[in-house]
Amino acid sequence: MLTSGECSEGAGVLEIQQDGYGFLRAENCQQGPNDVYISIAQIRRFNLRMGDYVEGKTRPQREGDRYSAMLYITSVNGLAETGEIINIDGAGNRVAETIFGHKKVYFVIGKNKLAEDYDKALWRARNIAGPKNAQRLNRKTPCAAKADRCYNCSSPDRICKVLSVFWGAPMGADCEVVLIKEDLGY
Ligand code: SF4
Repeated sequence: MLTSGECSEGAGVLEIQQDGYGFLRAENCQQGPNDVYISIAQIRRFNLRMGDYVEGKTRPQREGDRYSAMLYITSVNGLAETGEIINIDGAGNRVAETIFGHKKVYFVIGKNKLAEDYDKALWRARNIAGPKNAQRLNRKTPCAAKADRCYNCSSPDRICKVLSVFWGAPMGADCEVVLIKEDLGY
């Protein structure tokens, strides 16, 4: 969202994603082409909450943009020191956004997401990120009570439905990893 310059108008109901960033859903709280990306910093700066109605100026969309923002910023559930990036998702929206539709994707990753190799990064995503997110979202899953490990549940509330592994940037995509020297999220 911008406050001056060459802008368009943007408005909608804020939907905050698992990793803290959000979208203004412009059309009846449903995903749509007029959605506006809201960064974690903007959410914090303006103390925004899920469901808030927000309006303001946006950078104009350009051809090929999916949203009014040019960039897609997200975190991951596991980063192997050998280079693989692992994400687990419930609806698949976060995984999908990292793979296709944005000109540039930044993976902003805290040091707590680092694991020695692919197997350990996958283990971390399943046994640390999954249970902690299930607990945070009050899911009725066996992992949510203690967030101690994954039980590979078949609960209707299971949040682990989609797994993505990046062995490299998808063809034609521009991805960048930003490693932060502090713990960030799950
Ligand atoms: S598969 Fe089920 S038990 Fe395992 S982390 Fe996901 S929700 Fe929890």
